[in-house]
Amino acid sequence: MNVRAKPPVRRTVTTKQPTGKNWSEHKPDLKEDFNSCCGYCDSFDGFRHTYFEVDHFIPKSLFEKNGNIDYCQYDNLTYSCKFCNNKKGSKWPSKDETVPNVNNKGFVDACLPEYENHLYRTSKGSIMWKTNLGKWMATEAFRFDERERSIIVLWNLNELRKIINGLILELENYQVGDGIYESIKEKLGDYTLKYFVFHQELMEYYNE
Ligand SMILES: [Zn+2]
Repeated sequence: MNVRAKPPVRRTVTTKQPTGKNWSEHKPDLKEDFNSCCGYCDSFDGFRHTYFEVDHFIPKSLFEKNGNIDYCQYDNLTYSCKFCNNKKGSKWPSKDETVPNVNNKGFVDACLPEYENHLYRTSKGSIMWKTNLGKWMATEAFRFDERERSIIVLWNLNELRKIINGLILELENYQVGDGIYESIKEKLGDYTLKYFVFHQELMEYYNE
C-alpha cells in the first residue's frame, strides 16, 4: 500500500506571505495541506512523540549559495516530523537545486505522486522500497530502517485512531441497548485495547 494514506497537496495561494527567514508562518497551511502528517513517513502530528517542523526540500545551504530560491517559497516546503527532517538534513545529490536525484541517490518531493513509486508501506506498517532511489531514501536519508519499530507503532496507532473515531461517530446513530449499538461498542472496546497497548509501547519507546 502507499506510504501516505492520503497524498499531500500544496495549496497555490497561501494564507500568509512571510518573507526572509519567517518560513514557519507557513506551518498552519502546511499542516492542513499535509493532512497533519509527516510528508515523508506519514506519522500523525497528534501523538506526543515529536514536534513537527518545516523542511526545506531543497536544503537552505544550497540555495543560499545559488540564490535562486527563497526561504519562504511554499513549493519548497514540506511538513515533516523532527526525525525525518533531522535525518534528511542538508543531504542533496547534486550542486544544482533543480536536480533532486541522480544515479539513484537523492529525493522525490513528497507532493509528487512519483514519491509512492519508490517506497511502499507493508501490511505491518513499516516502510520499504520498490526502487534503488527508494532504497537510498529509506536507508541513507530518512533511516526508515533504523526507525522501523517506531514507524510501525505510529502507523498502527494512527490506523486505530481513525477506526475508533469512525466507530464513535457510528455509535451516535443508535440507541443504548440496540443490538447494533452493542456490537459497535464491543468492537470499540477491542480497538481501544489495541490502541492502548501500542500507545504504551510508544511512551516506553520515547522514554528510553
Ligand atoms: Zn517523518
